Amino acid sequence: MRYSGLRVIAEGLRGNRGWKPVWREPDPKPEYDMVIIGGGGHGLSTAYYLARNHGIQNIAVLEKGYLGGGNVGRNTTIVRANYFLPGNQEFYSHSLKLWEGLEAELNYNVMHSQRGLINLFHSDGQRDAFVRRGNAMITQGDDAELLDRDGVRALLPYLDFDNTRFPVYGGLLHRRGGTARHDAVAWGYARGADQRGVDLIQNCEVTGIDISAGRVTGVQTTRGAIRARKVGIVVAGRSSQVAAMAGLRLPIESHILQAFVTEGLKPVIDHVISFGMGHFYISQSDKGGLVFGGDLDFYASYAARGNLPMVEHVMEAGMTLMPMIGRAKVLRSWGGIMDMSPDGSPIIDRTPIDGLYIDCGWNYGGFKAVPASGWCMAHLMATDHPHEVARRFRLDRFATGHLLDEEGTGSQHNLH
Ligand SMILES: Cc1cc2nc3c(=O)[nH]c(=O)nc-3n(C[C@H](O)[C@H](O)[C@H](O)COP(=O)(O)OP(=O)(O)OC[C@H]3O[C@@H](n4cnc5c(N)ncnc54)[C@H](O)[C@@H]3O)c2cc1C
Repeated sequence: MRYSGLRVIAEGLRGNRGWKPVWREPDPKPEYDMVIIGGGGHGLSTAYYLARNHGIQNIAVLEKGYLGGGNVGRNTTIVRANYFLPGNQEFYSHSLKLWEGLEAELNYNVMHSQRGLINLFHSDGQRDAFVRRGNAMITQGDDAELLDRDGVRALLPYLDFDNTRFPVYGGLLHRRGGTARHDAVAWGYARGADQRGVDLIQNCEVTGIDISAGRVTGVQTTRGAIRARKVGIVVAGRSSQVAAMAGLRLPIESHILQAFVTEGLKPVIDHVISFGMGHFYISQSDKGGLVFGGDLDFYASYAARGNLPMVEHVMEAGMTLMPMIGRAKVLRSWGGIMDMSPDGSPIIDRTPIDGLYIDCGWNYGGFKAVPASGWCMAHLMATDHPHEVARRFRLDRFATGHLLDEEGTGSQHNLH
């Protein structure tokens, strides 16, 4: 079924009796050509592009819970291509281009809104760093504009410009940056993959990976054994645990990141604002809630919930930047498990086991990567060669020292 405005009107006139389930609920088959472990954004987009770009249809996505119940439905929805380092730049640039055509591609409203992202700076040194970043973005073919203090004030008049510790000096505006409705991205890719014959199997946890003579042969699941020629591990915060089923030790730590949303308010923030010094970022959802987040909880954990000290820290950062936020009531907060790599950049690569592939290390930036990650992981699984824009996301870079440390933080997982 194709979705359109006309269809909505026609269904409205017919009492909405013609809508069909968005995807099938098949039982797992005993064997597939390819199995993707994890029904988050990256797993679903991988399956979609395997079918769309490479014509492979005998694929299953195995999800231990429900589709989109992981980080893809828990993030603060920011989509951008403002990376600095070669390796990251071309990948996120490719991803943003895919975002820009995604709704037409999937025939699904993912509510992609290019409302503009502003990264604030608070010193001469920080301004120089953003000038360099902006030049790198423009060289890559993306957009960047340097705003002085008055330029920021014209767009964001409600900020505290004269904060004693972090006075606002200006900002880097990335007009094509913005947000998208996170669940819809999972649902859109799920629907597209299902329409191309992919089996989406929910409530199916992978409990073991079968290997024979150095080659993957299938997986054990809570719904029985499934044979497969190739298996992709795409489980974000659970990457270390699932890779351990194949005897692999990944350079990944899992940490919690929390997010917050206020009651619905009239339109007040019409950009995405990033306040790096307070590690605080905020936008307003289409329902009116102010959606914001901060830093990691700083200790490794698999519990998808946060702690009160970080709540206090994030609220303080918000009050520092825009005291008006103190008038809003916070409705809820939640946590997601981040797959933090030592250099803050991802991994899309083969593993030492033939037929076993890994896509992980998205840190807290993997939502914007969903289209390109699926595109590149599908390319890798179909051809056994890395895609050009993901060629630096190698698993062995931690052994060779060719790190992709975007922030210059050093190799400590929870600082990225
Ligand atoms: C609070 C928060 C804010 C964020 N904000 C942003 C942002 O603004 N912009 C941005 O770009 N990124 C952001 N991120 C990061 C982004 O959400 C993640 O990097 C990305 O969603 C991870 O990839 P995924 O969607 O595939 O993960 P997930 O949705 O977590 O998918 C992994 C799936 O694997 C499944 N799984 C795990 N183990 C097994 C198993 N054994 N068998 C079967 N299935 C299994 C899980 O149930 C899960 O559904 C944020 C994350 C959080 C938590």
